[in-house]
Amino acid sequence: MFQDITPHVYHNEFSLAPAETDDFIFIFSGKGLLCRVEDDAIILPTLGQLGPAFASGQRLFSIDSRGYYLWEGAAPEAPEGWTYRPTRPLRDCRADEALFAAAAAESLWRWYSHNRFCGQCGKKMAHGTKERSQVCPACGNTVYPKICPAVIAAVYDGDRLILTRYRGRPFTKYALIAGFNEIGESIEDTVRREVLEEVGVHVKNLRFYKSQPWTFTDSLLMGFFAELDGSDRITMEEDELSEARWFSRDKIPADHSGISLTGEMIEYFRKNGPIR
Ligand SMILES: [Zn+2]
Repeated sequence: MFQDITPHVYHNEFSLAPAETDDFIFIFSGKGLLCRVEDDAIILPTLGQLGPAFASGQRLFSIDSRGYYLWEGAAPEAPEGWTYRPTRPLRDCRADEALFAAAAAESLWRWYSHNRFCGQCGKKMAHGTKERSQVCPACGNTVYPKICPAVIAAVYDGDRLILTRYRGRPFTKYALIAGFNEIGESIEDTVRREVLEEVGVHVKNLRFYKSQPWTFTDSLLMGFFAELDGSDRITMEEDELSEARWFSRDKIPADHSGISLTGEMIEYFRKNGPIR
């Protein structure tokens, strides 16, 4: 999956260490992320390439020994050799540590830029100095990074799996049932509710598979295999889906993209059947 960047190691311990010349700087604008794409790979600018004027960025994380910083001032004109690229198409670049870093940084950038003012009293927020947070100096309101828990559900019955297609979205491949957790709901209840809402069937014997930080939508995905309980008759939620039907294992289309938890779970079932 796209977060698996072995042998590289992602470190997200909070730190206020200043940027050094070979650390990377993220600059986002309304036009996208300042970067280059070479041989299908994202190339990020370093502080040394952009110049010392960008040294005051907010430290986000490091990968191996290189720091990654977010520039929070006004976005400059793109320097020679660099361009602002819309981030949605960048998802199709090579799945390496730069893609992972760009997706994590974009999620943090969205969170910082949506939390510049206190939602309680309206005053300007300041960066937390001991942990990743935004703190209101006037009323003390503290806000933490936004991560939305969500489920991916692989509903199976013997050798058959329900595959779906979303309605009206750019993603057109087959998918599994997915949805966000609601306040007051266990993640297992989210699986049961989303499955019932989207395809109208009941499930039992939930088995957790793996999780995935899907930073493109500020989510943490939790993947479950869930066995059909009762009638196999699908009643599709037509607002969200354009297609939902049972596929036997030998009819499931192969997915070798290796990016998403959904793709990995479909591929796992195609090769092995459900986890038990
Ligand atoms: Zn406040």
